[in-house]
Amino acid sequence: MPVTRFAPSPNGPLHLGHAYAAIVAHDLARAGAGAFRLRIEDIDAGRRRPALIAAIHADLAWLGLAWDGAVTVQSQCLPRYHAAVEHLRALGLLYPCTCTRAEIAAASTAIGPDGPLYPGTCRGRDVAAGGDVCWRLDMVRAVEGAGGALFWEDTLAGHQRASPAIFGDVVLVRKTAAGANEPSYHLAATLDDAADGITAVTRGQDLFAASHLHRLLQALLGLTVPRWHHHPLVVEADGRKLSKRRGSPGLADLRCAGVDGRALAEDLRRGILPAGLSLGPGVGWRA
Ligand code: GLU
Repeated sequence: MPVTRFAPSPNGPLHLGHAYAAIVAHDLARAGAGAFRLRIEDIDAGRRRPALIAAIHADLAWLGLAWDGAVTVQSQCLPRYHAAVEHLRALGLLYPCTCTRAEIAAASTAIGPDGPLYPGTCRGRDVAAGGDVCWRLDMVRAVEGAGGALFWEDTLAGHQRASPAIFGDVVLVRKTAAGANEPSYHLAATLDDAADGITAVTRGQDLFAASHLHRLLQALLGLTVPRWHHHPLVVEADGRKLSKRRGSPGLADLRCAGVDGRALAEDLRRGILPAGLSLGPGVGWRA
């Protein structure tokens, strides 16, 4: 039985793209008599807005989407993330880095899924590991440590050979503006998907590349391997994904204006979108 999840970050109000993502995850679970789980990805202390969590609950209820079990809230799972960091550190796969964004941008020669690839400046350097560092994965050693080629399955795009090296020496522990350390999205999401027993990771096409890295982290941390379902994104006429900042209405606005959420969810299921919006392409996406 599939166990899926919807994992919004409460950094801004949910919009129609989130509604579509939640419906895909919910319906996949229900179609297989499985479970649909809700996870609040609120580890970014600088951007999270805790007041939005109640609105997320209300938006899902308005769409007619009920989740199963307790809600996972990432800010309450920090010890688990730290234990995984210690494990990777003990394997000799993490190193501290003091480089600024500007230094990296100036020295980088290639772009990865998360931005300029890290040029490796601090790898092998003797950096004092205080609070003012981030921790990076030594990608070459990590791939070696995984012991051979890794593979993963996407229900739409098919069989994939994992290529985590596209991320370079990715940050797994961020440094915050306040000088504290926080696990990165990649680390926390991978750990939670395993801890929550997710068997089908459903999320938007924009996170397809992340799964190459998550597959590596699963191998290094001895986690169960789910399958993935990267669905197309709801896009605007210019092909860009929705954003509240660019004027896409929030679900809470629609809800408060008296729009029927269940009828809206039915339309989204049928691919009927408000004027000017459409479903974007996906790798291997089939209409
Ligand atoms: N928290 C991410 C977002 O709101 C989704 C991450 C995921 O589904 O893995 O875009």
